[in-house]
Amino acid sequence: MLFINSYREYKIVTGETYRAKLRHFTLDVLSSVSSTFENWDTLQKRPRVQFLYIHHIFKDEENSFDELLSKLSLHHTFISHSEAVNRVINGHIDKPYISISSDDGLKNNLNAIKILNRYNIKACFFICPSIISEADNNKVAAFCRKKLHFPPVEFMNWSDIEGLLKDGHEIGGHTMTHVNLAAIGEAEQWYEISECFEQIKRYCGHVAHFAFPYGRFVNFSNRAREKVFQAGFASCTSAERGCHISVEEEKIDYKKILFRRDNMILSWPLEHIIFFLTQNAKKANISNNYFRYK
Ligand SMILES: [Zn+2]
Repeated sequence: MLFINSYREYKIVTGETYRAKLRHFTLDVLSSVSSTFENWDTLQKRPRVQFLYIHHIFKDEENSFDELLSKLSLHHTFISHSEAVNRVINGHIDKPYISISSDDGLKNNLNAIKILNRYNIKACFFICPSIISEADNNKVAAFCRKKLHFPPVEFMNWSDIEGLLKDGHEIGGHTMTHVNLAAIGEAEQWYEISECFEQIKRYCGHVAHFAFPYGRFVNFSNRAREKVFQAGFASCTSAERGCHISVEEEKIDYKKILFRRDNMILSWPLEHIIFFLTQNAKKANISNNYFRYK
């Protein structure tokens, strides 16, 4: 069984779709128009909490990750997921903050550690316990194909996770088996969320944060949200773009907040990523803090 070890291989295996090319071209145009007519430095200086996340950091993505963090460090202070969550809840958002996280627990995330350390960044890794330390490569490949729509890649094991914790990073829950929580019944929802909480707690001693798989509003529901907090998690995060600003220094009910995060594909031009961040800063609104669900 061969695992994908570079983004180059990923592109060869999956091929670049017409849709991806069109998206790239559109973002080229939008970002160049925006950087000409809008002041990106001023927008990035807006006090806010911006969550950013990755899925993979292959060897050939390390340089662009480093470059991106270097660019972001000009205007932002990096904080942990826990601190970012607390700042939004308590309304203490006095400057531009960024928190970095990663979903799915791919082994290649370990490539990010030395770069994160260079910027003194503590990241949060959202994992699915069912695939951590899985020794059967066929099961791993099936998980990648069915759950992540991705070619076969290696996952972390519990000793990798222990290393991350020792380095001061955080581990969060991402359901047991990477399910679309909006598409399953309540008993299964409860198993996926509560068992994920219990297993991470058992291995790591502590877990506080949850990010739901697939990340869009349609992949979540009010029932699932209730179970996240019932199971013991203290925060819930999506993958809907946006950032968070203060609610007039007022503490807000943490169970009503749905944190937003922007996905970063490190092979994208950095301008595309900064473009999204500036647009988030421009459109930041307190309604971004709350759940929107059916
Ligand atoms: Zn995921």
